[in-house]
Amino acid sequence: MKRTFLVLLLVSCAHTEPAPTPVPAPAAEPVAAAKPAEAPKPPPPTPAEVLLTTCRSELGKAKQNLDALVAATGERTVDNTLVPLNGIYVTVSGQVNRAGLFAEVHPDTKIQEAARTCEQECSSFVSELLLNRALFDALSAVKLDAADADTSRFVTQSLRDFRRAGVDKDEPTRKRLIAIDEELTRLGQEFSKNIASDVRTVKVTAAELAGLPQDFIDAHKPDAEGKISLTTNYPDYGPVMTYGENNATRKALYTQFRSRGDANNEKLLAQVLVLRAERARLLGFTDWADYITGDKMIRTGKNASDFIDRVSKLARKRADKDYAELLKELKTVDKTAKEVADFQKAFLDNRVKVKQYSVDSKEVRAYFPFRQTLAGLLDITGAVYDIQYVPVKDASVWHPSVVVYDVARGTEKLGRIYLDLHPRENKYKHAAQFSLREGTLDQLPEGVLVCNFASGDELMEHGDVVTMFHEFGHLMHHVLGGKHRWIRQSGVATEHDFVEAPSQMFEEWAWNHETLSRFAKNVKGEVIPKTLVEKMRRADKFGVGLQVLQQMFYASVSLRFHQADPSKLDQLALVKELQARLTPFKYVEGTHMHTSFGHLIGYSAVYYTYMWSLVIAKDMLSAFEGKSLMDTKITYSYRDKVLAPGGTKDAADLVKDFLGRPYDFKAYEKYLSQ
Ligand SMILES: [Zn+2]
Repeated sequence: MKRTFLVLLLVSCAHTEPAPTPVPAPAAEPVAAAKPAEAPKPPPPTPAEVLLTTCRSELGKAKQNLDALVAATGERTVDNTLVPLNGIYVTVSGQVNRAGLFAEVHPDTKIQEAARTCEQECSSFVSELLLNRALFDALSAVKLDAADADTSRFVTQSLRDFRRAGVDKDEPTRKRLIAIDEELTRLGQEFSKNIASDVRTVKVTAAELAGLPQDFIDAHKPDAEGKISLTTNYPDYGPVMTYGENNATRKALYTQFRSRGDANNEKLLAQVLVLRAERARLLGFTDWADYITGDKMIRTGKNASDFIDRVSKLARKRADKDYAELLKELKTVDKTAKEVADFQKAFLDNRVKVKQYSVDSKEVRAYFPFRQTLAGLLDITGAVYDIQYVPVKDASVWHPSVVVYDVARGTEKLGRIYLDLHPRENKYKHAAQFSLREGTLDQLPEGVLVCNFASGDELMEHGDVVTMFHEFGHLMHHVLGGKHRWIRQSGVATEHDFVEAPSQMFEEWAWNHETLSRFAKNVKGEVIPKTLVEKMRRADKFGVGLQVLQQMFYASVSLRFHQADPSKLDQLALVKELQARLTPFKYVEGTHMHTSFGHLIGYSAVYYTYMWSLVIAKDMLSAFEGKSLMDTKITYSYRDKVLAPGGTKDAADLVKDFLGRPYDFKAYEKYLSQ
């Protein structure tokens, strides 16, 4: 599963999305100056205390600047209102970004905790700011007659942010909205923490690892009792589900994987849903789904529901064929099989691919040692966007494995990226791009990739290679779109349901022989054969119908949880109902997929955005039809018309500028039908 943290401080205030700033230097040891002997000093503050003190002092500055902004008298102008407001946003986003990152990745759990506190305090600050009536009035009064388009848009969108927060409601309602936001942030953090900390283990014998690749077996030695531990972390889970021949092992690990968070998260989620529904009602919406889609390309919950239906219908025929194929394959192992279980899907899918499409994932892995793959990715993005990566050795990082580059074009520095790509204890378990700093005219954008890949010369699954390209698509959007006067328009500041389009489009560069041949080589230095890539593509298309239905199942859970009356919602019953309606795979007893479905916090009702973005990604890709993906005439145009403008235009207009026509469903329909 792919995940990105869109960190738009101000688009919707009831989420915990982060994005960070440079690491504050840890508390330096006091320099022993030549001073007379004094009373013993208190011990120096811990790094966690420094983080919190810095966070609070920056928030204090922002508060002072806000008071001064509101207190100003006379005519409201760009200089006395918009510029200081932008400055406040810069200050707060710096803190919330860093805190959001550290809460998920910092190896020091005390810092994680301090970061969560900082995040909560930033969130409260923003909630209050968006409900500040005097600020809203000041902003409304700014004379825009001579303003440029970006400035007018900044004001229009900011006013909308304020209205969506409830600024025009009465005082008791505004107070209640603030309390709801604070509680939602806390509950959301708790929910995510429960998933990250709930790593489960299944013990198996060496024989029960039958089918797994040798490098996996070598890395999983038996303990004194001859038992091998498999964890629910992705580097174990993925290979076991794909290659493990033992049905019981797969079922056991699947059941554990889909039970993560089940001790407390259903209860937490129920509280979240009640508060979101109340918030939506207070703001005049029927439910949270209608509220949260209001500032997206899709506009309403009903449209989202129609979209899910439309896509499910489009995929059904293909999915039925896929399922029949899996069942046929299962019968070669178990003659009496009547149906395919969810935990057999990936395994059978791989077997069909190996047999019918002659693609063995083990063979493919050989071309993707981690280090070489990363170098290839940097080379490709360097070429298509005309940028260079300059290693930064002295950057302050939160873990020694984090690699840092400055992104430059010639002598011009464009931003900085941090790559935190390998699993470790207490670290975020998925793949995501975080912003560390939003770019403006005065500060360069900084972005972070947080993933859980193999390292060094270890081999990567091609799926992980695709994820790496995907996340890099976000990172490039963040960096290349990060030079705007108003931070509200920086980077991925477009509608949230467009955010995945650039990253999904960039996945194509991990599927194309011309681009892959630049780096995908085995230990003998042989380039990945073109025939293999073509087979991989054909194999990849196999199962796409089922994958789309699976995605629509997730999208439905996300949407319907937020359309239901929370007092009557039976979470597990709804999950079972939707799984039965949308996918051919039966619910597996004992599992609670929703208690580890982290997107219910970050994305709430709008998980559909992945598929919506894919529709647009496929459409944008059509610009390359019959051309090379390395054709810089097209990639530069894409960079300049879609990525660089950030949020200065509506996403639909960015796409139109690039394609020369409005976006449509045709390319997506073709992709599903072929
Ligand atoms: Zn993404």
